[in-house]
Amino acid sequence: MGAAESKTGEWVDGFLFVANRPILDFLNTKPVLDRGPTELLSDFHALERWLIAAGVVHQAKAKSVLRGWRRSSEGAVLLRNLIAFRERLREAVQRLEAGSSPSDEFLRELNTGLLQHPSTFALRKRDGRMVREQYFELKRPADLWAPIFNGVADLLSEPDAKRIRQCEACVIHFFDTSRKGSRRWCSMNICGNKLKVAAYQRRKRDRSSA
Ligand SMILES: [Zn+2]
Repeated sequence: MGAAESKTGEWVDGFLFVANRPILDFLNTKPVLDRGPTELLSDFHALERWLIAAGVVHQAKAKSVLRGWRRSSEGAVLLRNLIAFRERLREAVQRLEAGSSPSDEFLRELNTGLLQHPSTFALRKRDGRMVREQYFELKRPADLWAPIFNGVADLLSEPDAKRIRQCEACVIHFFDTSRKGSRRWCSMNICGNKLKVAAYQRRKRDRSSA
């Protein structure tokens, strides 16, 4: 990670967090970096780090459960299936962004997953107030589907679906929380500056050829 990356707070422990929705940050775990398309969920340990960086897993007990699965075959199977699912999710999100809806097949898969891996909520005190937190049991690696399916369900039923968008210059998706709803880039640091420089050079070229 370069210094600029860590300074912006967009990168946490080697993962990109620019999407305003954890499930889209999950989708963004295969960005195109200088060295080309890069799989950031390279092994179970990487998945563990992502879950913690994303705040999906935060209790010490849950973290130690995850540590115990690093070398398990069940953990490896889960990671493989999660990565395959991430690519089906990409298609569903792209359909949403194109003004369509996810395929029936994808919805069937999601609804089956929600039934098999339910998550519930717990109320906790944080900074003097009560917050509703997602709660799921962690007894085996497959239990990690619960927050994933739950996040996808929230995303697909998002009332303001027009704010789910892909960066104009790369493969990153985000939920636009800007007041005007006019966000175009994954990040000013990653694509915004690149595009601004390109536009400037184009204008300069046009001027000199006029
Ligand atoms: Zn971008």
